[in-house]
Amino acid sequence: MSDYDVDLFVIGGGSGGVRAARIAAQHGARVMLAEEYRVGGTCVIRGCVPKKLLVYASRFRAEFEDAEGYGWTVPQAAFNWSTLIANKDKEIARLEGAYTATLERARVTIVKTRAVIVDAHTVQLGSGKRVRAAYILIAAGGAPSYGDPIPGIEHAISSNEAFHLPKLPPHAVIQGGGYVALEFAGIFAGLGSRVTVVYRGENILRGFDDEVRQHVRTDMEKRGIRVFTGCKIAAIERAGSRLQARLSSGTQLPADCVMFATGRTPHVAKLGLSEVGVALAKNGGVAVDEYSRTSVANIYAIGDVTNRINLTPVAIREGHAFADTVFGGKPTPVDHSNVPTAVFSDPEVGAVGLTETEARSQLQRTDIYRAMFKPLKATLSGRDATVLLKLVVDGQTDRVVGCHIVGEGAAEMVQVAAIAVKMRATKADFDATMALHPTTAEELVTMRQKSASYAREAAE
Ligand SMILES: Cc1cc2nc3c(=O)[nH]c(=O)nc-3n(C[C@H](O)[C@H](O)[C@H](O)COP(=O)(O)OP(=O)(O)OC[C@H]3O[C@@H](n4cnc5c(N)ncnc54)[C@H](O)[C@@H]3O)c2cc1C
Repeated sequence: MSDYDVDLFVIGGGSGGVRAARIAAQHGARVMLAEEYRVGGTCVIRGCVPKKLLVYASRFRAEFEDAEGYGWTVPQAAFNWSTLIANKDKEIARLEGAYTATLERARVTIVKTRAVIVDAHTVQLGSGKRVRAAYILIAAGGAPSYGDPIPGIEHAISSNEAFHLPKLPPHAVIQGGGYVALEFAGIFAGLGSRVTVVYRGENILRGFDDEVRQHVRTDMEKRGIRVFTGCKIAAIERAGSRLQARLSSGTQLPADCVMFATGRTPHVAKLGLSEVGVALAKNGGVAVDEYSRTSVANIYAIGDVTNRINLTPVAIREGHAFADTVFGGKPTPVDHSNVPTAVFSDPEVGAVGLTETEARSQLQRTDIYRAMFKPLKATLSGRDATVLLKLVVDGQTDRVVGCHIVGEGAAEMVQVAAIAVKMRATKADFDATMALHPTTAEELVTMRQKSASYAREAAE
């Protein structure tokens, strides 16, 4: 590989790129990584981490309210947006430094610039300098997409800007029904905004279990978040210091902030991909095989830019597997089945495996076990909260093929349940596990009565 300046050139210093660069360097490769914005990428700088910090902030409201039933007198609480954002920014800067230091310790050369592929072995930096690489890894992530253009779209923000608003918007209108939309709905509402969610589909959280979707919607509405489905924002106008969102249904919504959380587009434009012959998949991402290799033999792609499962742990796993495959002498495909996922909305969702609808269309027999109850914590607080736990079981093999939870701690519970699902645990294994009392999760091992059982209907 000595004909080249480096063994590996990584485009993008996000979750996937950083992991791939570090592991490749540890395998002995000479690695250069280009990052055009900030090391850490979406997750660290304007995704998972800052989002979760804002979620924590938003949940104090309910804690203060609930404390009263437990004997506490909490003086009128006051919230300061600027303090939260400044503290969040400080933590993000610390993390960015930690990621940079980790790469430097691994002897990865970081270049803070945009990089573009010129040919199968050459990358051009912003300065015009060209770097010859034996392998190129595209880990360029994605960017928020605003969907079809509408009048006034320039007044809308995406999640990128939501992390830096100068003040908390008194009324936020959020278009989108996915996890980013619902998480920001919970954040703004918890911090004190009036929030309206607008989603063009028939119900929010497409792709999640239908009962989960309805449960979340009902609970969000109970908590004062308005949800409009079956319509979308048709235009945004400026009305003095405020905005006005006009919906396709004709409804006019005055707003201080209109946010679009309508999906993300893989960062494939202007990277030199078509010129070098890197093919795209139907989903708009870079097309790759199970080892993340593109249509050009020495160019690989991982993470959101491939638009497979757009989550940080998946990008990290793909980056690690790439490095092991190419530089570690250990070909490692990534298993994309049973990836657990969470929505840090209010109420929170955790899910892994098949939904009831998916199981009923794929399995000969599907058994459903469900528990819905008022959590113990809500008794003294008087909070109107209900937890949903649902197990989807293959009726022929007794395997638990899906676990869906809505309520406090759902994401933490599902991370652990995902181990059992991945290990192909049966419902009998769940039942044989002693309950841990008193917890919400104990219901996972004490649900004895099927709430439904379905045989697959014969195909036409
Ligand atoms: C608001 C929000 C919340 C999220 N919450 C979660 C969550 O709770 N859990 C979870 O698992 N996932 C979450 N995600 C998704 C997660 O952030 C992504 O899946 C993950 O960051 C993908 O990693 P990546 O390495 O593929 O890309 P990224 O992290 O996006 O990194 C790509 C990097 O490449 C850089 N880049 C792009 N083009 C070039 C170029 N030509 N030259 C140089 N640099 C370039 C970009 O600046 C960027 O830093 C969230 C995303 C968002 C937007």
